[in-house]
Amino acid sequence: MIHYTLRCSAPVHGANPHEFEGWFKDGAAFEKLLAAKLVECPACGDTGAGRALMAPAIPKKNRRGRAAPEMAPAPAPEPAAPPAATAGPMPDQVRALLQKIRAEVEASCDYVGDGFAEEARKMARGETQTRGIYGETSDSAAESLRDEGIDVARIPWVPRSDA
Ligand SMILES: [Zn+2]
Repeated sequence: MIHYTLRCSAPVHGANPHEFEGWFKDGAAFEKLLAAKLVECPACGDTGAGRALMAPAIPKKNRRGRAAPEMAPAPAPEPAAPPAATAGPMPDQVRALLQKIRAEVEASCDYVGDGFAEEARKMARGETQTRGIYGETSDSAAESLRDEGIDVARIPWVPRSDA
């Protein structure tokens, strides 16, 4: 199972997109559900705007004050999605979304490479500034982080759109 934090930016939520959590069998299953518009916002039922939000590592412990770590801004309205490809492992619109997520992660989070797990723990212990980070880690290391109460999301990392 894989855990994602999702964000609904439907107009009904105004300036505060509704965040909710979802468990999926794996990344591919999530992509399929998203493409099929089956990822539904529990607050407003919107499926069009329900979209993945990266949550690389937001420690749940030792969160100080009410200032949440800076997350990526709500995705800007997208231009009309190209017609969905029905064949192939990844529909164009899903790829485009993942590229968008990647761009947001890269713009708003620090890349910590394979030091991800260590950095996430430091944040959880308050030894370093809490912020969004992303990097690489093994499944087992990610699982350990979750066991320690550190929220980690794994997102499919697609090639950049300008690559
Ligand atoms: Zn909603």
